[in-house]
Amino acid sequence: MTRLIFLGPPGAGKGTQAQILAEHLHIPHISTGEILRQAMKEQTPLGIKAQSYVDGGELVPDQLVQDLVAERLNQQDAKSGWILDGFPRKVTQAAFLEELLQKTGQGGERVVNLDAPDAVVIARLLDRGRKDDSEEVIRRRLEVYRNETAPLIDYYRDRQKLLTVNGDQSQAEVTVELQTVVGS
Ligand code: AMP
Repeated sequence: MTRLIFLGPPGAGKGTQAQILAEHLHIPHISTGEILRQAMKEQTPLGIKAQSYVDGGELVPDQLVQDLVAERLNQQDAKSGWILDGFPRKVTQAAFLEELLQKTGQGGERVVNLDAPDAVVIARLLDRGRKDDSEEVIRRRLEVYRNETAPLIDYYRDRQKLLTVNGDQSQAEVTVELQTVVGS
């Protein structure tokens, strides 16, 4: 049973690597950013509420993402494991997840910290060209990452759940290191 949380700055390659590993392990890749973008595209109530935050590079309020994660992890395909990409993004969300996993008997999760230097992630993000990848929004997202999300590295290290992978390598090299580190 593999349950993994992917941590790391925007542009570190979390989405790509989480997708590859999830396919390899036949478990769902759950990206809160993807779910929010889809909801925004479809203009669902969730999408409408999330829009201004996502466009500005701010975090969507906890309640919105926590509800969607609880619902997603409760679906049948998540019973055989999962990779969470983009959640939790702050300590309050990590505490929520800890409690949720305990309540639903889905423990044993490990956390992959996919790290890469600022210069590398900025170059990658500018190259990607998503709507929230303008230079100004990228700067804000990195700031939010440093202030809100990076403290989760210590949070999970203290709980002995942290694995670290060097994201400053080619895509193929990261994939190999990741599979070695998670033992798949
Ligand atoms: P991502 O695709 O993970 O880079 O997420 C894109 C955007 O979705 C972020 O900049 C946030 O606005 C929003 N988002 C995704 N996950 C979360 C989360 N766990 N908490 C709050 N906002 C989130």
